[in-house]
Amino acid sequence: MKPLTNRSKTVSNKTMTLMERLYLPAIVKGMAITLRHFFKKKVTIRYPEETRPFSPIYRGLHVLKRDDTGAERCTACGLCAIACPAEAITMDAAERKPGEERLYREEKYASTYEINMLRCIFCGLCEEACPKEAIFLTDRILPSGTTRKSFIWGKDRLVETESNRIDISKRHFYYKDEK
Ligand code: SF4
Ligand code: SF4
Repeated sequence: MKPLTNRSKTVSNKTMTLMERLYLPAIVKGMAITLRHFFKKKVTIRYPEETRPFSPIYRGLHVLKRDDTGAERCTACGLCAIACPAEAITMDAAERKPGEERLYREEKYASTYEINMLRCIFCGLCEEACPKEAIFLTDRILPSGTTRKSFIWGKDRLVETESNRIDISKRHFYYKDEK
């Protein structure tokens, strides 16, 4: 039968020589390759003692930001939830009451805001969709958990505390350039 390509090779059935039967040249060649790699710079690291530096725009755990005065930036517009391809974000909106201006920046705010981290694929589309610069992904790693419930992150864990602000200046700078 005529072959469709010229890639097929005829296998030789010739008897092996004594040297070939000893496999010595092949063993020496293999050892030489091993030795060459032995003295090369190692590509592996001793994790967790050593960690690789993350990209400034690494897409890790989310944060809901506060503004300079400490008020929550999120206005519960829902654009992040609509943009989310994994449907991981849910929220309830509420009206800001008089006297709550210091707590919430806009007249509407998210009374509940949840991200299901088991659904999230850390694509960053929520961050890109947000018109209020309220949600950002960070270089923090999502902690492991043993229950499904522990992966539902609510405002208690997503909103940054006033005393411990999460620095997003590097990615903020990058996205401002992109927009
Ligand atoms: S990072 Fe992507 S998948 Fe995760 S919540 Fe945001 S939009 Fe959804
Ligand atoms: S995080 Fe941003 S996009 Fe999502 S509801 Fe709040 S303001 Fe809207």
